[in-house]
Amino acid sequence: MFVILGLSDSKPEITKSNDFLNCPNCNNQRFWNLIHERTHFSLFFLPVFPIKEKYYKACPVCNYGQELSKTDYYYLLNKSK
Ligand SMILES: [Zn+2]
Repeated sequence: MFVILGLSDSKPEITKSNDFLNCPNCNNQRFWNLIHERTHFSLFFLPVFPIKEKYYKACPVCNYGQELSKTDYYYLLNKSK
């Protein structure tokens, strides 16, 4: 019997924040996106459980991003609802 194990990246969750920021990379002022990326441990190509999570805020124009802590991400996410 074959068992296929692996890692898979799920589609990142992107939320528009209400943080109006000046991008240091492209100098545009925009509402930045909040991005939540997950890597799952997978079995037969099906994600089983998340093993790595990353949080970012990123410029919607040039995708310049800054990594956030989980706490900061959820703080900004709740503020944006
Ligand atoms: Zn930018």
